[in-house]
Amino acid sequence: IVDRDPAVQEARLKLPVCGEEQVIMEAIRNNTVVIICGETGSGKTTQVPQFLYEAGWSHPDSDNPGLIGVTQPRRVATVSMAKRVGHELNLSEDEVSYQIRYDATVSDKTRIKFMTDGVLLRELSQDLLLTKYSVLIIDEAHERNLNTDILIGVVSRVLKLRAQLSREDREKIQPLRVVIMSATLRVTDFTENKTLFATPPPVINVNARQFPVNTHFNRRTPEDHLSEAFKKVCKIHQKLPHGGILVFLTGQNEITQLCRQLRKKYPSLPANASKKAVADEKDGEALESQTEKIQPGKEDLENEDIDLGENQVQEDFDLETDSEDDDDLGFEEDEMEQVDDAPLHVLPLYSMLPTEAQLRVFEPPPEGSRLCVIATNVAETSVTIPGVRYVVDSGKAKERQFDMNTGVQSFQIGWTSKAAADQRAGRAGRTGPGHCYRLYSSAVFDNEFERFTKPEIQRMPIEGVVLNMKSMHIDNVINFPFPTPPPRDSLSKAEKMLGYLGAVNTTTKQITAFGETMSLFPITPRFAKMLTVGQQHECLAYVIAIVSALSVGDPFIQDYHLDENRPGDEEDSEDDLDQQELSNFHNESAIDKQKRKLVRKKYYQTQVKHSSLDPKSDIIKLLNVVGAYEYAGGSSEFCNDSFLRPRAMEDIRKLRRQLTNMVAANFPGVNVCVDPKMAPPSALQLKVLRQVMMTGLIDCVAMRQDVVDTEGGKGQRFKNASNVPYKLMWSDDVAYIHPSSILYGQEPPPILVYTELFKSTRTWLKGCTTVESK
Ligand code: ADP
Ligand code: MG
Repeated sequence: IVDRDPAVQEARLKLPVCGEEQVIMEAIRNNTVVIICGETGSGKTTQVPQFLYEAGWSHPDSDNPGLIGVTQPRRVATVSMAKRVGHELNLSEDEVSYQIRYDATVSDKTRIKFMTDGVLLRELSQDLLLTKYSVLIIDEAHERNLNTDILIGVVSRVLKLRAQLSREDREKIQPLRVVIMSATLRVTDFTENKTLFATPPPVINVNARQFPVNTHFNRRTPEDHLSEAFKKVCKIHQKLPHGGILVFLTGQNEITQLCRQLRKKYPSLPANASKKAVADEKDGEALESQTEKIQPGKEDLENEDIDLGENQVQEDFDLETDSEDDDDLGFEEDEMEQVDDAPLHVLPLYSMLPTEAQLRVFEPPPEGSRLCVIATNVAETSVTIPGVRYVVDSGKAKERQFDMNTGVQSFQIGWTSKAAADQRAGRAGRTGPGHCYRLYSSAVFDNEFERFTKPEIQRMPIEGVVLNMKSMHIDNVINFPFPTPPPRDSLSKAEKMLGYLGAVNTTTKQITAFGETMSLFPITPRFAKMLTVGQQHECLAYVIAIVSALSVGDPFIQDYHLDENRPGDEEDSEDDLDQQELSNFHNESAIDKQKRKLVRKKYYQTQVKHSSLDPKSDIIKLLNVVGAYEYAGGSSEFCNDSFLRPRAMEDIRKLRRQLTNMVAANFPGVNVCVDPKMAPPSALQLKVLRQVMMTGLIDCVAMRQDVVDTEGGKGQRFKNASNVPYKLMWSDDVAYIHPSSILYGQEPPPILVYTELFKSTRTWLKGCTTVESK
């Protein structure tokens, strides 16, 4: 008995998936696992949970009283889809709820629960049978995220268990149903994997009306896809008939740049726009400014677009010289229109954008203007934008890369896959025939694009996942039914590291009591280790603050021009920095330059100020920052003055509360709270804190190369850490102290521990702490 708004009802009946409702429900009733494949935008995510709800699933008096669970790889999709389905069903947040890492609307009235797959994985370690749920929808399975893959593996076993138990006592436990939903058709990893599902599950294909899309390759592949995208959008807008434009770029930085360029060139509203429209536009743009960047290298069980901001993009686009005949738009002369200065409604779309700003892409553009959305690959499959007729595809994507041998993480922009490029093209054919402009040549597409994107499990550090699996008593991770098994090598490496940390018994491979405690915390095993050993000398409150900050990631706004390395530079004088600035900002006025210089000076002073407790540790610097932030009542002014990202600080605060509560609940007799007036640690406590940090960073040790070379001798003397190489413990690589470290400006210590290895132009050590010699 659903009371939908008539407009909602009308819109949903047009969705292709609604034509298959009978088939889908029949299949779910008759099979424990069902796979639904359908073009993006066909209505899978918003409608399938409603089919189940309407058929009585999750109703307390039905045969299947358990919740309808839906997992998503991305936080934003989790929240916005819960909102959308709640709206369509005309139900409250209590009933159609969501749960993400820091936030939840779940209540005891909840019937449909959207969650990130990370959240469900954590629930699994508490309740292996998933008894709360009667049906589980695993969405976006084609993305092949680490978490989704693990979930599918675990769930394939839960299914068997639940089936078996319910045969024994149907009263007590019902079987679980699982629906796997996917956009592209590569489902053979799921269907033909006998260790996963012994009988291949049925696959329901939802045939969406897909209009033909004309694909146009560039004749040449330009160096700079951003300025090429700008040119292409301008041409489309000026010459081609009405219809939305969707541009695929790699990240937040590029997107903001292009938005700015386009907004500068074209007005956003028609000349006769109402006052309200103007005000709305302003509000919308204000919302966008509340964005934030996630820092790299932090293990976060939820997948997000990550933008490093390390790539400074050229400011000036070269508009005039366009000699190549790449401006063939594939239209006849008489189809072309010539519009000058017509309004263009430019909207960004990426995961870190606030939800409200994201939802703007679903609204029709102002009367008389053309919609132009600049997006990351969120728009590839997670979100469908109405009215898109032209797609401009850079062909690039930013991916997290992980070097299994060195442990180094990096973010690299590379070609996407053929499957992804076809998905992107398909976005132009949802509402009518469309065109896709690929900013690369067909030769590049043929020869350099992989057929499919590599599953994330083959590119990721997995110790956190292995610990999680161990706590679910999956001891033999090597034989786990992964849809695509990770290299055995990396599995045994992760096991080994967990052995070092004392979380896993090195002979039985089973989780230790200590590891059990570690696995309770939703943070990476290293940091969990720090928490579990941090109970001496009343240090726990400090350890919690430290671990919260480390887990969220560096909260400082990165002065990222520092990131740019100057290979070949012998010296590292202030002058060089200026030179660097100059080349980046050749069109910047002298005044601006001076301003920047002052800002940078203040930036360093802030860093030094926060290091007064201990000038030799970035971690203690973080502790100081977290304490000071709380003392200042979490004010945004404090963040501004201290070059901190407010949202990161807010996340740290939330995690700190959460961990404090968890510690209080799990460590009997321990008395901790979040004290806004926390006193700084004593000298003794500082010493203990260092030891605690070491236990988590036991294998993150770097020694100065010259000290290694002289076999522990004194080594050379250095004024600061610039260009001083360090040798890593487990590899032959060298690394350098990152300029953001407080150790950078000092005499570099012979030995240090680091929290993060990061590779851009060279390998950097971040979050450093000096190891004092006895
Ligand atoms: P799929 O999961 O198959 O990709 P969805 O269920 O996400 O498809 O989307 C179905 C339709 O619902 C799409 O046309 C999409 O534009 C629309 N839609 C989704 N979310 C919203 C929203 N918040 N506001 C308006 N329309 C939406
Ligand atoms: Mg979907």
